[in-house]
Amino acid sequence: MSKTIIISNRLPVQLKIDDRQITATPSVGGLATGMKSVHAGGDSLWIGWSGLTDEEIPDGLSPAIDEALAKHGSSKVSLTEEEVDGFYYGFSNRTIWPLYHYFLEYSEFELDSWNIYKSVNQKFADAILDKAGDDDIIWVHDYQLMLVPQMVREQRPNISIGFFLHIPFPSYEIFRTLPWRKEVLQGLLGADLIGFHTYDYERHFLSSVRRLLRLEVSFNDIHLDDRVIKVDSFPMGIDYKKFSEAAKKHHENKEEDKSELQKRLDRHKQNQPEAKFILSIDRLDYSKGIAKRLKAFEYFLNKHPQYKEKVRLIVLAVPSRSNVPQYQLLKKEIDELVGRINGEFSTVSWTPIWYFYRSMPFNNLIDLYTSSDIAWLTPIRDGMNLVAKEYIATRTDKTGVLILSEMAGSANEMNESLLINPNNFEEISDALLQAITMPAEEQQARNSVLQKRLERYNVEKWANDFMNSLMEQKKNESQHKSRRLSTNRTNRIVEKYRAANRKLLFLDYDGTLAGFQNDPQKASPDKELYVLLDKLAAMKNTDMYLISGRDKETFSKWFLPNKYNMIVEHGVWISQNGEDFRMLENVKKDWMDKILPVLESFVDRTPGSFIEQKNYSLAWHYRNTDPDFGLKRATELNTVLTSLIANDDLSVLNGNKVMEIKSSNVNKGRAAMRVFSEKEYDFVFAIGDDWTDEFMFQELPDWATTVKVGRHKTQANFYVDGISKVRELIERFTEEN
Ligand code: UDP
Repeated sequence: MSKTIIISNRLPVQLKIDDRQITATPSVGGLATGMKSVHAGGDSLWIGWSGLTDEEIPDGLSPAIDEALAKHGSSKVSLTEEEVDGFYYGFSNRTIWPLYHYFLEYSEFELDSWNIYKSVNQKFADAILDKAGDDDIIWVHDYQLMLVPQMVREQRPNISIGFFLHIPFPSYEIFRTLPWRKEVLQGLLGADLIGFHTYDYERHFLSSVRRLLRLEVSFNDIHLDDRVIKVDSFPMGIDYKKFSEAAKKHHENKEEDKSELQKRLDRHKQNQPEAKFILSIDRLDYSKGIAKRLKAFEYFLNKHPQYKEKVRLIVLAVPSRSNVPQYQLLKKEIDELVGRINGEFSTVSWTPIWYFYRSMPFNNLIDLYTSSDIAWLTPIRDGMNLVAKEYIATRTDKTGVLILSEMAGSANEMNESLLINPNNFEEISDALLQAITMPAEEQQARNSVLQKRLERYNVEKWANDFMNSLMEQKKNESQHKSRRLSTNRTNRIVEKYRAANRKLLFLDYDGTLAGFQNDPQKASPDKELYVLLDKLAAMKNTDMYLISGRDKETFSKWFLPNKYNMIVEHGVWISQNGEDFRMLENVKKDWMDKILPVLESFVDRTPGSFIEQKNYSLAWHYRNTDPDFGLKRATELNTVLTSLIANDDLSVLNGNKVMEIKSSNVNKGRAAMRVFSEKEYDFVFAIGDDWTDEFMFQELPDWATTVKVGRHKTQANFYVDGISKVRELIERFTEEN
C-alpha cells in the first residue's frame, strides 16, 4: 500500500531530554494541525530535523530518540551544529528569507552556506529515498528544502512529489539577484505539483521559470521534455473550530478560571469602559513591520490627541532567530521605540503601549484575541499571516475590527477587513480612526462574511485540496504515459516496418531531429544526425522525406549533397533523389508587399524578434524576446493579421515561437498526401513537434503511425519525449533484422 511522506525542516514533535529520559510531545502549530488528515494512521511518515543537533544528543541516545519519534509517525534527519548554522541560520534565514520578503539589502550571498544548504538538502532527500516506495506520495514543505524535489526525482523518476512554499515567492526582478537562482528553480521543478499561498506568488514563480530557464509555460503548467509540472495556489487556512470553540469556552469562564492576564485586561476595561484595546501580534521579524507600526501609532496619537488615554496598544513580539544580527538590532530598535513613545505620552493612569517580548501559551492568545477591539497587523511583507485569521475566528459575537496590511498573503481573502499600505501613515491613521468609531453592526456585517470563508476553507481543507490536486496530477501523468512510446510499442512499430513492402517516412526537422537555437541558421545538423539519416535513407524499400517549414536554400546546402528527399516551405517545394527542388504547389507571393511592413513594425517594437523571408512565406520569430512580452505581441500580431488577410487566400501558422504567413493551400498534410499517392505504400510513419505537423497527422490515413514530440495536444497516435528519444526511435528502423 502506498504511504504519504511529509518532509519539513522541523518535525511536528517536541523532544525533551531529562536525565536521559526522552519525552516527545506533538506540536500544535498550524501545519501540524492541517496535516492531521494527511498524517494519520500507520500509512504516513513525517521526516524532519528533531531540533537537537548531533552534539546536543547525549551519547548512545539516538536509537531511543528514533523509537520515541516513531511512536508519532516521525523519523529524524540528523544534523550537526555546523550544518544547522549553514543551512538554517545561514542560507535559509540570511539569504532566502530576506530575499523572498523583498529585503534585498539583508540578503547575504555566501558560497559556504549555499554549499551546506545543498548538502543538507541531500541529507533530507536521502532520508526520503531510504524510506520511500515507488508508489508513495511525497510532500515537501517550505523554503529550507527547495532542492529536495529534484534530488528525489533523480533517483525515483516516477514517484509523486508535491512542494508547498509557505513564504512569498518574490517578483522575478528580485529573484534574479540570487546567484544560485537556476539551481533553486531546477530543484523545485523535481516536483509534480508546486503550491503557493496566493496567485501573485504563483505568477512570480512562473515568470522566473519562463525567463530564467526559458521553459514553456501554458496557463499554470510547466512543460519539461518528459513531464508536466502543475503550479497552483492554495491559501492556507487555520484550525477554525479550535479557535472559535476556545473563544466560546473562554466567554463561559468563571472568575476563578480566568488567567492572570485576563483578569488584568478586565480590570482595565472596568476602569475605562470606553477605552479600546488594539492588538499587535507577530514574531519579532523585520518583515512584520513592528517598528513602523509603533511609529504609526505615535503619528496617530499626535494627529488625534483626543484619543490619548482612550486607546491602548498591546504589542506581543515573539522571540525569533535571535542569533541572526538583524533580529538583534530590530529587538533593540523596538525596545527603544516602546520606551520613547511610552515616555512621551504616558500619564499617571495610562501607558499607551503594553509590550510583551515572549511567546504566549494558547489560552493567553485567546485572552488577547477575545479582549481586543481591534487587531492591527501591518507586515511589510508576509507569506500569509495566520494571526489575522485567528483573530477573526475568535470573535464569537462577530464584533471586532481587523486592520490588515495589503502586503500579507491573507489580505487576498480578507477584503472585508480594513486593508492598508503599511508604509502610508496617513492611511493607517485613518484606518485606526475608522476602526475605533466603526458601528458594531458594520463590524458584524464584515466579520460574518470573513468567518464563513475561514470556516469553510480551513487548514484541513487546504491540506486535502493540495493532496487531491497532487493525486490528480499523477493520474493525468499516467494517462499521458498511456500514449507514450514504450519499448513494447516501439518494438511493434519496428516489426510492422520490417514486415512492410513499401515504406514511407516523414521527418520534421526543427524540434524533432534537431533542437531549437536562438538563431535558426545555427541549428544545423550535427554529425550523428547525418550518420543516422544516411543509414535510414539507404534502407531498402524505404522512402525517407525530411519535411519542414524551412526555405529551400538552407535545406539544399545542408542535405542536397546527401540526396535525401525533402519537402520544404511547408510543401511548396520538393526535391527527390538529389534532384533540384521543383514546385509542388503553385503559389502566389504578391501579398508579401502588404504583410512585410506590418511584420517590420512588430520587429521594431519587439526587441529580439526578427523576420525570416522565405520564397513563398514570411515568418516572424520571437524565440529571443522576453517570453511574456513575445507572447503578448504574437497575440497582437495575430489579431492584426487576421483582419488584414481576410480576403486573401492566406493563413497564419502558429509554430513554436514563430508565426508564419503563407498561402492557405500549402501545408505539410497536403504535401505528404501527394507523395503518399505516388506509390502503393503499406507503412507510413510521420513525426513532428508543432502545429504545422498536425496537418500531416490529420491527413495521412488512419493506419499510419504518427508521433508527436513533446506534450501538446495532438492528433498523433503517440507521444515521444524530446529529440534524443526521436533519434533513438528512428535508429531502430535501421537495425539489422
Ligand atoms: N503564536 C503562538 N504564540 C504566541 C504568538 C503567536 O503560538 O505567543 C502563533 C499564532 O497563533 C499563529 C502563529 O504563531 O498561529 C504565527 O503565524 P503567522 O502566520 O501569523 O506568522 P509567522 O510566524 O508564521 O510568520
